[in-house]
Amino acid sequence: MDCIFCKIIDGSIPSKKVYEDDMMLAFHDIEPAAPVHVVMVPKAHIESADALNEENVKYVAHIFSKAGEIAKSLGLKNGYRIVNNCGPDGGQTVFHIHFHLMGGKQLGTMV
Ligand code: AMP
Ligand code: ZN
Repeated sequence: MDCIFCKIIDGSIPSKKVYEDDMMLAFHDIEPAAPVHVVMVPKAHIESADALNEENVKYVAHIFSKAGEIAKSLGLKNGYRIVNNCGPDGGQTVFHIHFHLMGGKQLGTMV
């Protein structure tokens, strides 16, 4: 499968890892949109939020259960933003579900 995030997970594409366990990987975004910008991905190829179901949603729950710990490890003491882009109109460019964890400045209102 030609998926850049699956290749990052299997190590064939290098990344700057910040957290890893058996269900997820978090690494620094190659084009940061904030002073701190990491991408959190499940170790299962789920295309997008639109492909979530009762069986695979555990990966999303797990990612959110670790997000606070990851944010703290990155020094984000005053809050952060978690973003998921879903589908072409949502701005998704990599079709392996992921959550952007951003912070390090006041990000302003988005929605
Ligand atoms: P999205 O537009 O929501 O699909 O987000 C995809 C994100 O993946 C973008 O913020 C890219 O900068 C990031 N990205 C793409 N390739 C890499 C890579 N090799 N290493 C780290 N981040 C990447
Ligand atoms: Zn994948």
